[in-house]
Amino acid sequence: MNLIEAGKRIYEKGLVVGKSGNISYKLDEGRILITATGTCLGVITDGDLVVVNLKGKVVKGHKNPSSEMRMHLEIYKAYKSIKAVVHTHSPYASAFAYCGKKLKSVNPESEIFLGETPILSFFPHGTMELAKAVTDTLKDSKVTLMEKHGVVTVGKGLSQAIELAELVEETAKINYLVETLAKNKGEG
Ligand SMILES: [Zn+2]
Repeated sequence: MNLIEAGKRIYEKGLVVGKSGNISYKLDEGRILITATGTCLGVITDGDLVVVNLKGKVVKGHKNPSSEMRMHLEIYKAYKSIKAVVHTHSPYASAFAYCGKKLKSVNPESEIFLGETPILSFFPHGTMELAKAVTDTLKDSKVTLMEKHGVVTVGKGLSQAIELAELVEETAKINYLVETLAKNKGEG
């Protein structure tokens, strides 16, 4: 899976809408391929990708990198094994993050691959504070929820990070349905 396929996939699944969300991929030790700011992942093309170095300087491409670039770079600098970072505002997971409500494991996949998903308290979008705080939560997790913001997933490759973005959204949706049904139990 390349970055363009990854963008289209999460757009089609409703994990991002409009121009929200961003994705990056580590090309080598010094270069990161990242979506440009203002990109709609549903119709992403090569022209919407830029290559930056670890200081955030554009080394290839004509657009400005995502406004969340700092977060992507801090994660790569901290964890050498991470090759891909995906950020979405997927609705069910974002709602749990907003409420500070932890996700429960609802199936074998969520138990094995998500475990205890951390929820990070609010930091303003695009800041170094957010970048550092998110990086910190990824010490023991490949997924983090950000209060009043959304989701970050990481992986050894794009497939892993994308699959985790899908899994955390599915898990949040099932959590919501379970709670709703449990509340209504006995009322029928
Ligand atoms: Zn965002």
